[in-house]
Amino acid sequence: MAYLSKSPWILHYDASSCNGCDIEILACLTPRYDVERFGIINTGNPKHADILVITGGVNEQNRSVIQNLYDQMPHPKVVVGVGICACTGGIFKECYNIAGGVGEILPVDVWVPGCAARPEQIIDGIVKALGILEQKRADMSRAEAGA
Ligand code: SF4
Repeated sequence: MAYLSKSPWILHYDASSCNGCDIEILACLTPRYDVERFGIINTGNPKHADILVITGGVNEQNRSVIQNLYDQMPHPKVVVGVGICACTGGIFKECYNIAGGVGEILPVDVWVPGCAARPEQIIDGIVKALGILEQKRADMSRAEAGA
């Protein structure tokens, strides 16, 4: 079966961020940065999402939530960690309840460091994620065709 190319939909999850990176993600949706020009839509439903964008680090309370969201997304899917907290735990890394970055539990495809990550960096990361998503779609189509 050939996978239909469609506009990439994003699911944004705030794991345990200070909200700084989340504000910058919201800025990407405003007319100034306007990520919809790439056909990107922000959705609240993991079953409709292709790209999981996570801010903040992993802790014992959100570990199962992150895994659950990821599992509900259809294949192929891409994970983008935004902000140094998502990359490594950041300034909260030494806190008793922080296990580390998102890579502790999910295969992260694109890292966007920064504190806070700037909208230009986030958009750059999303554009990279689009390329990886297309590659994964092509790989799945080839695998199912037996090539
Ligand atoms: S990277 Fe900085 S701005 Fe982003 S969630 Fe962590 S502390 Fe906040």
